[in-house]
Amino acid sequence: MNIQWYPGHMAKAKRQMIEKIKQIDVVIELVDSRIPSASRNPLVDEIASGKPRLLLLNKIDMADPAATAAWKSYHERRGLAVHLVNSQTGQGTSSIAGSVHQLTSQRRKKMEEKGFKPHPDRALILGIPNVGKSTLINRLAGKKIAKIGDRPGVTTAQQWIKVGKTMELLDTPGILWPKFDDPEVGLRLAATGAIKEELLDFQEIAFFLVQLMLQRYRNQLAERYHLSVLPELNRNDQDQEKIIGLFDAIGKSRGCLMSGGLVDYDRTAEIIVRDYRHQKLGCLTLELPAEKTI
Ligand code: GDP
Repeated sequence: MNIQWYPGHMAKAKRQMIEKIKQIDVVIELVDSRIPSASRNPLVDEIASGKPRLLLLNKIDMADPAATAAWKSYHERRGLAVHLVNSQTGQGTSSIAGSVHQLTSQRRKKMEEKGFKPHPDRALILGIPNVGKSTLINRLAGKKIAKIGDRPGVTTAQQWIKVGKTMELLDTPGILWPKFDDPEVGLRLAATGAIKEELLDFQEIAFFLVQLMLQRYRNQLAERYHLSVLPELNRNDQDQEKIIGLFDAIGKSRGCLMSGGLVDYDRTAEIIVRDYRHQKLGCLTLELPAEKTI
């Protein structure tokens, strides 16, 4: 799903979300494991402020397991509860209600002290478009609930879905806008397909992917495109030429040639980006905790 975000939409989404969160005990924030920082909304801390939080790194099947483990421990060291999930298969989702229950223990204790019977743990799934919110809600509900294509600003009657014995989940996710003022973040979002295609330049995204693979995922790059020699990057002016040289090699090996035998960089770039999105390049994570942007 792609939504165009304008200042008015963002202000409205923020207001609605702050209102919604008032009736919630725990905020479940969903991010894409391939871009655990770029796929966060910049204001999520403010919007969820004061509420216990559970962070879910979703789409773990598409990310580099070592990088996912690094992200998990990074957040855990800062006191955040983290789960690794694959919403498509349900992997890691059965323990969510239990973690949410732990996060509400103080609130329940306070209510009991006052003589009230605590209500079920009320949770909301929050995240930017395309991180898998609807897929996860459907998975937790055990049936198709979340309407894929939900839009911010459109109010529908909300319902609570029972998940296990202790948790109630809002049937509509909280949708927040992606961060788009930082070009580096934009590239990471675009590489995964999280932002609108017509806003992007495939050559720029492919350049970013090839550069990253030369630094971290050399074997996968060589294997996919049958490259016997890969250049070393030295972080200087010649790096750009080396990457263009690789585009030539990839374009030739994939038959992306124009008349006169010149490599068609547009087509080559599109192949690289689509290969990444369809996991033909393997499970690559595009950012590590040291490169986080929020
Ligand atoms: P939403 O916009 O946040 O509600 O995202 P969706 O639930 O519509 O999911 C966006 C895309 O990601 C869909 O094509 C889903 O099938 C896919 N998806 C969601 N979760 C996972 C996951 O854990 N692994 C994989 N491989 N794909 C997922």
